[in-house]
Amino acid sequence: MRMPASGRPPHLIDEHPTFVTHLECGLTGEVLPADTVQGLSSIGRPLLVRYDLEAAAEAADRATVEARHDDWWKYREILPVRRSANIVSLAETFTPLVAIPRTAARLGASWALVKDEGRLPTGSFKARGLAMAVAMAKELGLSRLAMPTNGNAGAAMAAYASRAGMETFIFCPADTPEVNVREIAMQGAHVWRVDGYIDDCGRIVGEGKEHMGWFDVSTLKEPYRIEGKKTMGIELLEQLGWEVPDVIVYPTGGGTGLIGMWKAFDELEAMGWIGPERPRMVAVQATGCAPIVKAFEEGERHATRWEGAHTIASGIRVPAAVGDFLILDAIRASGGTAIAVEDEHIERCSAEVASRDGLLMAPEGAATVAAWEVGLERGDISRDDRVVLFNCGNGLKYPMPPADRVLDVPVDWARMAAEASADTAEHHA
Ligand SMILES: *Cc1c(COP(=O)(O)O)cnc(C)c1O
Repeated sequence: MRMPASGRPPHLIDEHPTFVTHLECGLTGEVLPADTVQGLSSIGRPLLVRYDLEAAAEAADRATVEARHDDWWKYREILPVRRSANIVSLAETFTPLVAIPRTAARLGASWALVKDEGRLPTGSFKARGLAMAVAMAKELGLSRLAMPTNGNAGAAMAAYASRAGMETFIFCPADTPEVNVREIAMQGAHVWRVDGYIDDCGRIVGEGKEHMGWFDVSTLKEPYRIEGKKTMGIELLEQLGWEVPDVIVYPTGGGTGLIGMWKAFDELEAMGWIGPERPRMVAVQATGCAPIVKAFEEGERHATRWEGAHTIASGIRVPAAVGDFLILDAIRASGGTAIAVEDEHIERCSAEVASRDGLLMAPEGAATVAAWEVGLERGDISRDDRVVLFNCGNGLKYPMPPADRVLDVPVDWARMAAEASADTAEHHA
């Protein structure tokens, strides 16, 4: 297909109906109207977008969407945006499924693919949720947005909202990766570092509503980021010929992606695009911040706040998630599990996949490789399961170990050979 000069594929120019009917509290089922500005339900829980899925299925079948340009907007019928003009686009793409055969061979596993979300605009899968939230903010006439962020969400919101001419206020924990704070500032946001965790930043956003008149776009505190993240699930199944994998391993912070994919599978089944089969959902957290793993192991439906949270995987350093019950319900309903991994294991997996399979993963993505390894050892995942791992961000955005060896001239070739074999030994350790 030839791309028009606007850079917008036809399904972003033509009008396509959405089959949104209403919003519904994820815990109580309370119904709220669509097409109105909404945050949380009256009891303070996430709102889910509901559709007339029968009508959506009549309007578009699998072949119809397959024929459209490959980006997440191709699923317009089951996305909330009503008017094409409200879609803010940075040329989104399908993200590839990348094999990591050498790592898989070491683990004795036969089928594993990494969905490499680092290829998206702003370098992380946060673009999916924030592009949707910004489009809906535009549709609903909002012009000032605020959020707490560990980095990538703020970067995605800054980029999409600035492009739409909206003002953004973003609050990051003081130890958010430097590159994130700077990219947020560079993409037109007002950004502050805060001495605290992401939920402390979230409190500032909540308190500031009255003073600053902004709309709170925190994870799951508005209904549309989940709708963006659910496209990961639809896209993945389209790529797999509408066959579900056996296992999905997902790095879980606020859990939007896991909740969103689970919602997508139910919607696709209601539309007759897939059957009742589901992947086992595996939530991965770091041992330094594992509230969901703890709640899963203790059989609880809600998690308690994790005190003293710390991990190098900043995207999953979320001490308390408002959608905890939605994450835990999905894991349990799928027959999946929750796994906590050590930072040191994350670093080892990240080095292995980069040096042996050539794929530079975000630490959160490498955490899924570590969890896969733990899952294989524990027997939660078998060696012939078809496994999809999510690399949620581009590895280039994260600090890497130094590489500061300097070559002395004239060259000492024997020394070069010795140093090279030391490198090889290290990469294969
Ligand atoms: C936000 C983020 C996560 C966690 O995603 P949730 O859907 O909020 O659980 C994982 N990895 C990276 C790189 C992130 O930016």
